[in-house]
Amino acid sequence: MKNNLIQLHDKQFKKFISREQIHEAVQRLGAQITHDYNANEVVFVVVLKGSIVFATDLIREVNLPCTLEFIRAESYGAGLHSSGNVKVAHYTGLDLAGKHVIVLEDIVDTGLTIKQLLIHLQEMKPASLKVATLFLKPEVCKGTVETHYVGFEISPLFIVGYGLDYNEIGRNLADVYILHEAP
Ligand code: 5GP
Repeated sequence: MKNNLIQLHDKQFKKFISREQIHEAVQRLGAQITHDYNANEVVFVVVLKGSIVFATDLIREVNLPCTLEFIRAESYGAGLHSSGNVKVAHYTGLDLAGKHVIVLEDIVDTGLTIKQLLIHLQEMKPASLKVATLFLKPEVCKGTVETHYVGFEISPLFIVGYGLDYNEIGRNLADVYILHEAP
């Protein structure tokens, strides 16, 4: 890796957030959730595919009885920009009635995806419904949706790694990289 740059498809990306910084943020979120739920059982609803890495790390930092469910939402399609078109592509056997639910998202950009998901999940009458996201782009989502647990607030640029992809690759990178514009 030269100058912390990597190549994915046609684009170069530059190291942005290290695995150590991510680990610290995930530990902080896990401790907050453990404290806030005060020994109550929690259902984590993991938004596939991007949140899988965040979810597997976060749940091991949470000291509460908890269960896991998975949901799939697609908003970006292929490329760097949110399509604004949110499809709930996969949706199986969710019984959330009366339960404390935390949705685990990798990143909230425009907030459209999480907003649609919350509408679906709210219909299942959970006792409570909150959102934990590792990354938030506050300048883009401008308060469209309430995010209760946030790892990092970042500028409105495209990032990859730690579950996040660029046209399906890059999810396995342990650090997070940002789109590198040629000087
Ligand atoms: P939103 O609906 O909030 O605009 O977008 C949410 C989804 O778009 C995320 O779950 C993620 O899949 C994708 N997304 C948004 N921003 C980025 C980004 O910077 N990098 C990557 N790889 N995906 C993103």
